[in-house]
Amino acid sequence: MSVVATTLDLHTHSTASDGLHAPADLVALAHQARLTTIALTDHDTTNGLAEAQAAGATLGVTVIPGIEINTYLPQGRGEAHVLGYYLDTASPDLQAFLRFLRDARVKRGERMVALLREQGYDITWERVRELAHGTVGRPHVALALMEKGYAESIADAFNRYISPGRPAYVPRFKMAPEDAVRMLRSVRGVPVLAHPMRLYGLEDDLLPRLMEAGLLGLECYYGDYDEPTVEHLLALAEAHGLVATGGTDYHGPGVHPTPLGGRYVPPQAAVQVRELADQLAGEPAPPFTPPVPPPQ
Ligand code: AMP
Ligand code: ZN
Ligand code: FE
Ligand code: FE
Repeated sequence: MSVVATTLDLHTHSTASDGLHAPADLVALAHQARLTTIALTDHDTTNGLAEAQAAGATLGVTVIPGIEINTYLPQGRGEAHVLGYYLDTASPDLQAFLRFLRDARVKRGERMVALLREQGYDITWERVRELAHGTVGRPHVALALMEKGYAESIADAFNRYISPGRPAYVPRFKMAPEDAVRMLRSVRGVPVLAHPMRLYGLEDDLLPRLMEAGLLGLECYYGDYDEPTVEHLLALAEAHGLVATGGTDYHGPGVHPTPLGGRYVPPQAAVQVRELADQLAGEPAPPFTPPVPPPQ
């Protein structure tokens, strides 16, 4: 599968969230890697898209507007991440809700830094804020820990301090994946379940629930998934009538193992996502119903 050069990568991050490359630099790297299409899918923000699309117009790289919303499964069963493509970024309701999510991440980041400081680790919130150019995430806390010599790598920092069950972990605002899917459909986005192999109860329970909420795709060609895994997910997508998408989840060097464009994704994935988006554009969108934030 990997012998065929890919031309697209539908899952990437920039400095607008927790990626290490500025949006324009990411697009330049995509161009160097001979990609013709990327989707920028930053966490809880669309703020990197304008810069990425301007760079894409100059270099001849199509930049699909995207986003990634990280959510939680019920009963402590881990996380589910929902990608959204071609969402209406001009929607004031969408932008207000994304601001709410980012503000909640700021409070959560401050709590993680406070926990680390209580445990004697000399990192500061000011430094984490400097490292985060947009959406604040655990990778920024991990970088601050690395800088001070408390971790050897981002993965090491996650494993020691900020993964669930570790001493400085604090969850994000608790949103259910169904709510992320509904929110994306309300702004005519194409919702796709990201890296599905991490998910508990995918086939029996989760996929049917998410499809009822409006899920349209499954990320089958992900990062370093091996061929049997991709085949398994393709069969699942086909059985449920979901579009099969894919990408690397590239964040920059040293974060995840797969380089930009380092995973084969068939060109038809981008065509099918575009067709779904065009179809949604011609239909009335369901009303925007953000999950109610918990009392402060
Ligand atoms: P957050 O959304 O702030 O909880 O941070 C989650 C993000 O951190 C994910 O989207 C990944 O980009 C990154 N991440 C999660 N686990 C690891 C890990 N073990 N090593 C490196 N990056 C990770
Ligand atoms: Zn990330
Ligand atoms: Fe993710
Ligand atoms: Fe991602």
